[in-house]
Amino acid sequence: MTTLLPANDAPFTVDQKQYLEGFFAGLAQNTRPFVGRTEGGLLTHEPAPGLVNEAEEEKWFGVPLSDLSKEEKFKYDENPLDIWDKLVRHAEDDKFPEGGDVFRFKFHGLFHVAPAQDAFMLRIRVPGSLIKSSQLRGLAEMARDWGGGYSDITTRANVQIREFRPKDIVNVLMKLQEIGLTSRGSGADNIRNITATPTTGFDPQELLDAMPYARALQFYIQNHRDLYGLPRKFNISFDSGGSVSVVSDTNDIGFQAVRVGDGQCVKSGVYFRVLLAGITGHAQFANDTGLLLKPDETVAVAAAMVRVFSENGDRTNRKKARLKYLIDRWGVEKFLDETEKKIAFPLRRFPAAQCEPRHPVIRHGHVGTFKQRQRGLNYVGVVVPVGRLTASQMFKLADLADKYGTGELRLTVWQNCLIPHVPDDQLEALKRGLVQSGLHHTTTSVSGGLVACTGNTGCKFSSTNTKGHAVQIGKYLEKKVAPDFPVNIHLTGCPHSCAQHYIGDIGLLGAKVTQAGVQVEGYHVFVGGGSDQDQGLAREVFHGIPFSDLPPLLEKILSTYDVRRSRGETFLQFTRRHSLKELQELFSE
Ligand code: SF4
Repeated sequence: MTTLLPANDAPFTVDQKQYLEGFFAGLAQNTRPFVGRTEGGLLTHEPAPGLVNEAEEEKWFGVPLSDLSKEEKFKYDENPLDIWDKLVRHAEDDKFPEGGDVFRFKFHGLFHVAPAQDAFMLRIRVPGSLIKSSQLRGLAEMARDWGGGYSDITTRANVQIREFRPKDIVNVLMKLQEIGLTSRGSGADNIRNITATPTTGFDPQELLDAMPYARALQFYIQNHRDLYGLPRKFNISFDSGGSVSVVSDTNDIGFQAVRVGDGQCVKSGVYFRVLLAGITGHAQFANDTGLLLKPDETVAVAAAMVRVFSENGDRTNRKKARLKYLIDRWGVEKFLDETEKKIAFPLRRFPAAQCEPRHPVIRHGHVGTFKQRQRGLNYVGVVVPVGRLTASQMFKLADLADKYGTGELRLTVWQNCLIPHVPDDQLEALKRGLVQSGLHHTTTSVSGGLVACTGNTGCKFSSTNTKGHAVQIGKYLEKKVAPDFPVNIHLTGCPHSCAQHYIGDIGLLGAKVTQAGVQVEGYHVFVGGGSDQDQGLAREVFHGIPFSDLPPLLEKILSTYDVRRSRGETFLQFTRRHSLKELQELFSE
């Protein structure tokens, strides 16, 4: 037998050389008995194209692994829903996640927000915006015992609690389950908090109670793993036609309640219209699809639409991964056709123009005292400046909701909360209780509409301290102007636009700007945005204003409107009827 290796560094023998030459020649000839097919389909002894050298690459949602975006690879490598043991290890070691785990932890609502804060922020889902006093108390305990002692109500009516250490995350998640809440899917590529009109169920103006649908969808998602790990985040909202806006037209799917009167080709009654692909950070509102759904059909249709998105959305490029881009690529009809293949009933087409118009929302209907549909009961919108509550205020709110209501609270996308079901004869006592707790039930026409994203004290993307600046702007303007109309001012720290600056009467987009040769915090200023009956994107009227110059500029904008407006003209009408150049001149006089 031929020995392959020469002994002691000796040269190859003749036999060894011949063996090796033969071996490599065989490899080069590739002598395996292949069977392939010609282009016409006949069998051949030639290898099929690609068979030898191009073994088919594994795919994930039909995309070759090498084409996946970084985040998709993280999901492919390890399903973020299956990392409980890892969470426990991190808690035991008091250790923050690294690499792909930073992303995976967000599936559990855990955001490591360094460098803004070297801590976890936990985002808690509040489906339909309904939270019970016992749950609010539980969150207050978590904030007090393990977090920074405060919480934030977000523009999706979530609650966020900050400054958790890794060692406490398992305690935090377990406690969350114990109080009947979850953070699962509140971050990363998932369906975010399902919102509903915050007054639904007791709103005199609304068409139906949307809460059962919002909550049913939440529980459907919670129990179907394939509805997690989408190409990108996904927002769904239910608008009951009530008094307080839930900005449903900014969602990926916005269900809007409508009434169809007699004499139409469908039975008269209350339905939902379906709007798709809102993404105001990319300057697009959700568009009506032409669909009319019975309320009971909404959960199935939403689930089907999410699955179509999951199977066909872009998993290679994060910038093109939202639903908007799938619909841009396909057109809405193809998207609806694919949705229809997944449901057992036909989709009903019906023109929006033949539905009755929606009641206008009440601007700042989220602050103050309002009558409920139920005789003798009221809801009170509590002022929560830029959404921040101390743990102590959370306890007090829970106590007040128990004492004067039914222990139920609603959160709003306007970053405040409502206490509903307050009997007429308890109203004054509740108001006194709010004031004694350092909270309030009335505010000015400016502060009632201040909305701010997290800002640079808690978000690494932010160029500015949005929440701090919002409070300063509110205080300044309250002293200087007293508009006789509710103004919405939205401050957002980066183009992700969590505070939706495009839909504010005044929108402020944070930026680093140069002032006297030094880089400082500032804003680009937009005017004329709105949602619902005021739908329209704000236009940028000033670029790169240092924050120190901003409050006087906003004062000038509001006072100019006050002086120059036509009779009965709203701020939106005023800003929209002028060109940008005219506005710049007017506001600079
Ligand atoms: Fe952070 Fe930007 Fe969202 Fe503000 S808008 S919270 S800065 S990501």
